[in-house]
This record gives sequence, C-alpha cells and structure tokens, in this order.
Amino acid sequence: VTGIITSIAAMRREAEALRARGQRIALAPTMGALHEGHLSLFRVARRRADVLVASIFVNPTQFAENEDFGRYPRNLRRDAALAEQSGCDLLFCPSAAEMYPHMHETTVMTDNLSRILEGEHRPTHFRGVTTVVSILFNIVKPHVAIFGQKDFQQSVILRRMIRDLHFDIEMIVAPTIREADGLAMSSRNAYLDPQQRLAALSINRGLQSARGLYEAGERNPAVLENEVESVILATEGIEIDYVRASNPETLAPSKEGEPCVIVVAARVGATRLIDNILLGAEIEAS
Ligand code: AMP
Repeated sequence: VTGIITSIAAMRREAEALRARGQRIALAPTMGALHEGHLSLFRVARRRADVLVASIFVNPTQFAENEDFGRYPRNLRRDAALAEQSGCDLLFCPSAAEMYPHMHETTVMTDNLSRILEGEHRPTHFRGVTTVVSILFNIVKPHVAIFGQKDFQQSVILRRMIRDLHFDIEMIVAPTIREADGLAMSSRNAYLDPQQRLAALSINRGLQSARGLYEAGERNPAVLENEVESVILATEGIEIDYVRASNPETLAPSKEGEPCVIVVAARVGATRLIDNILLGAEIEAS
C-alpha cells in the first residue's frame, strides 16, 4: 500500500532514512486529480529510482485571484489508489498552512522565462511553480525529478532553475499523453462540456496540421504558426491566447531552420488549455 505522508517532518525523516540506505529517490510533483498523463510520469520515474514519491499539492501561489484554485478537482482517495497501481511508493500531501507558514515571503523566480508566453497571461504563475518545486526539493530530497512535456514552458523554466540554483537533481521530461481523440490530458478537461470538448480538439488538430507542413519541408516559423492559428480560428467556441513557434531551449522566437516547439494557449469558455508540439527535436532526459 502506498504510504501517505502529510507532515513535512515525517517526509524529511523518510527521505533521510532512504538516503542513508543508499536508495535513489524520484519525485513527481502533481496537483492531484490524477489522470493517465500523471500515471505515465510515475511509470517512467519508477524505472529511474528505487523509491518514487509523488506529491499532491494544489499550490495556491500558482493560481491568480481570478483562477480556479477553489474549484480545482480534489479526490485524494481516488488519487491514492491510482498512484499505488502506477508504482508510487509514497504520496506526500502537505497542507498549505505547513508549506507556507505565517509570514512566508521568500520566492524563487526565473527573471525572464517566467514573463513570456504563459507568463504574459499569468504573470505570477511561474513564480508560484518555481517556489513550490524548490520547497518540495528541500523536503523530499530527490535524486531525480520528473515533469511532463504537456507543460512545456514549465519544463524549460524548471530545468533552468535546477541549473541556476545548482540543485543536485536530474530532471526527466516525459511525453504528453493524449485522450483517444487527441486532446492532451489535463485535470482541467473535466470542466469541458461535450460541445466545448469538440472545440478543444482543434488545438491538437492545428498542431498536427503544422507537423504535416513541417514534415513536407516547411520551415518558416510564421507559416507554421499560421497553420495552427487558422485551424483553431475556423472552430467555434475557442479563443486563442497565443500560438508561438519558439526555440525549445530558450523559448525565444524560433528562427527559420532551427528545431522548434509550437506552444499554444486557448480558452474554451472559462477553461484555459495549453498544448505544444516539438518539431525537429526530441525531448531530452536530463
Ligand atoms: P499538474 O497536476 O497538472 O500540475 O501536473 C503534474 C505533472 O504532470 C506536470 O509535470 C505536468 O506536466 C504533468 N502532466 C500533466 N498532464 C500531462 C499529460 N497529459 N501528459 C504528460 N504529463 C502531464
């Protein structure tokens, strides 16, 4: 049975004991409402370590005032069963009160990467992410941490943070898992009604269409962006926040001929969805 740990002190003790026994610890941070995307991370991580810790923490500091923190899906009992079936050894589920004690004011932030793309629409989001992941690293003391390609900018930011702050942690990025109809799995998909769900499919359709152009030799980033945009714009009930062909390492605008990642954010009703596709590059594990 997967052990559930809620206190920071108990998690620290467990991490120290594992390390003292020479065990390699993997950490997979999540906000719960687990789906196959999370479970695939767990399976990949489990092979790279002796013990897999998944954290479940709906992190208040990465939500803005007007966002869905209050209604974000929470179901610990279901999550615990799924985590156990997917190879998790420990679930770390801390409280916000313990993670952010009274007068908490210290944050971790990538100065530039957190301001572009998603950061233009969610200016405080990535600071919340880098701060909570740093806190989790200090408590769980993992040797390896795993994140999903689905949140591409997040993975670039966390890789940079690990490097810049000299966290002694190997980073793995696992591929995006999709529903049978191509929609990238997300806990927020639960907000979509059937009609909105159809509209949301245009995101992956657009990305696949750009991939088709790329495979046929198209290398102009503007043309590739345009392809994604026109597929989404032709669909009712979905608004584009951005479609950008970016350099996969720096997230700067992609130059013609470089590998690129096309990152997309769009809104279907009140639900914000993101997705991406890598063209001419593979995700690198480390
Ligand atoms: P979240 O619970 O949404 O914060 O996600 C926790 C981790 O799971 C992050 O590293 C995400 O990038 C990853 N993740 C979320 N959805 C997917 C997916 N569809 N495929 C792969 N990884 C995912």
